[in-house]
Amino acid sequence: MDALNHQSSRDTELLLQGGYAVQTPLQQFLEACHEEFAVNQSGNLADYIPELARVDPSGFGIAIATIDGHVYEVGDSRVPFTIQSVSKAFVFALALELLGEDRVEAAIGVEPSGEAFNSIRLTSDNKPFNPMVNAGAIACSGLIYRVEGKNAFERIRQSLCAFAGRDLDVDESVFESERATGNRNRAIAWLLHNYAVVENHVDDVLDAYFRQCAVLVTARDLAVMAGTLANRGINPITGKQVIKPHVVARVLSVMTSSGMYDYAGEWIYRVGIPAKSGVGGGIVAALPAQIGLGTYSPRLDSHGNSVRGLEVCKAISSRFDLHVLNRNADVRTCVMSDYDISSVSSRRSRQPHEQQILEDRHDDVRVLELVGALNFAAIDYITRRLAGTQSKASLLVLDFRRVPDLTMAGSRLLASTIKTLGGLGITVILSGVEATSNLISTVVSLTGDDRKPRHFLLLDDAIEWAEDQIIYRFGGFSVVKETSHLKEQALLADLTEAEIEAITSLATARHYKPGQQIVKAGEIANSVFFLQSGMVSIKLPSGVRLASLGPGKEFGEMAMIERTRSADVWADTDVQCLELPIDALTGHGALYPAVSLRILKNLSAVIARRLIQANAKIDVLSAY
Ligand code: GLU
Repeated sequence: MDALNHQSSRDTELLLQGGYAVQTPLQQFLEACHEEFAVNQSGNLADYIPELARVDPSGFGIAIATIDGHVYEVGDSRVPFTIQSVSKAFVFALALELLGEDRVEAAIGVEPSGEAFNSIRLTSDNKPFNPMVNAGAIACSGLIYRVEGKNAFERIRQSLCAFAGRDLDVDESVFESERATGNRNRAIAWLLHNYAVVENHVDDVLDAYFRQCAVLVTARDLAVMAGTLANRGINPITGKQVIKPHVVARVLSVMTSSGMYDYAGEWIYRVGIPAKSGVGGGIVAALPAQIGLGTYSPRLDSHGNSVRGLEVCKAISSRFDLHVLNRNADVRTCVMSDYDISSVSSRRSRQPHEQQILEDRHDDVRVLELVGALNFAAIDYITRRLAGTQSKASLLVLDFRRVPDLTMAGSRLLASTIKTLGGLGITVILSGVEATSNLISTVVSLTGDDRKPRHFLLLDDAIEWAEDQIIYRFGGFSVVKETSHLKEQALLADLTEAEIEAITSLATARHYKPGQQIVKAGEIANSVFFLQSGMVSIKLPSGVRLASLGPGKEFGEMAMIERTRSADVWADTDVQCLELPIDALTGHGALYPAVSLRILKNLSAVIARRLIQANAKIDVLSAY
């Protein structure tokens, strides 16, 4: 196809907004497809449901929902039409959720039938072949009826609404039209009743089924519904988990093998995206972890598939190489950085003797920052990387904050690695994960209580904890110093006792309780603090910790350069410090310029040291 060579006026006329072209290549491509295929008028409207023969045959809409929640739309993407068989995939999902796999699978098979959608044939053990043919779909509605009774249709409608992310209505005239004429489906339902696949209330089950087929959707709705399947059951627009991930895999499987009537084999061979079509002219196609596609054009080919919809799907798949079996991935990109604490330490500033221990034992703590969805192959790579390197680290931090998903296979491999490493005396710490996350509960339950990994929300907290273990192991905490003399302050280095005393006399002693705020971001910065005892944390208003400081450290020193506080400072413990007003310091500097110059030089040295450390961090974090 040569859709891309067709330049519509909207393609070339790029809309400019803030200097950027807002029409993306995918939007251009969809518009070109629409223009190219709109001229194709082959195929016929379904007419075995009389009301369907009355729709406008020229309607043509395309929509794509991305899993991050953007919807592309072209043409009649908001024109309502009846969902028909497209509903089967979603109602099957609901049946699996409501009744569980065992009960559903006992009633309905998952084999392609190779026959038309309305075939009356059952398998040799008298089950519908699969939930994508009418017999299977009516059986699904029957199963839901068993649980919900007269509320069955409303439950189905609500589920379709959750997939679409909006309220959906029923086309009553199409429903009545099918109810009046759908004798073949009636025959199928009674046959299923004969084999106890559909229990009682056959007419009510049929009504629920006919109504579900008459639900009104648009191409945009179908894209969002498919996007929900592509997004492991989470609607990309509403963010709601509509069905469980393992149900998604079941639904996509039957869509792959049986979703496109008796064209299913060709479809998966040529297009390669799990899909379902309906005689109302709709097609949904869900490409896992990438996009959901919805098309509408009511002229159907001899298999019952939308002619133009098929063309659009073929074009998108071949143009962007979207066949689901044609995947590749470089698992090595899942390790974003791998370092020890000589390059990136925690933000807790340490006493000199503690710092010395951490410098000597820097390779005792190793950090791997991981990125991307981690599957079986990715975690296998990580475990080989851990096994293959000559690391001396006894504490291993695995950071998951950029990991949106860990598969069950990945969790299993990770849990057994944690156990094996535990046996070797290596402690694994997980960071970047909520204590309540699925990742934690799965890995912890697979690891077992004895080797349960420690976990932290923030990587910085995990590194700090690991550093504490090293300091503790090598005796650092036994000599913790409680208070500090002013001559240990970096800002006052190289001043004489007398000079320090003169400065001290300008300062006011302050005392803060644990949890008390000392400095607030945005306030006027008019003093510098010398911490004498206790711990403080410097945080951004967002709560991110920039540093934790102990006795002998200064804070608020940027007041000497900047007139506004750039961060908050909180007392972590009982804190004693001296607060020195900048004005007093300036006045003093006018009298004693040499002292003032020395303090400014010291400030430059403090800032230069921080810059050197920050550069080292940036270097190691961007080295991959
Ligand atoms: N309501 C239609 C039927 O059961 C749906 C068929 C379809 O879309 O394939 O005949």
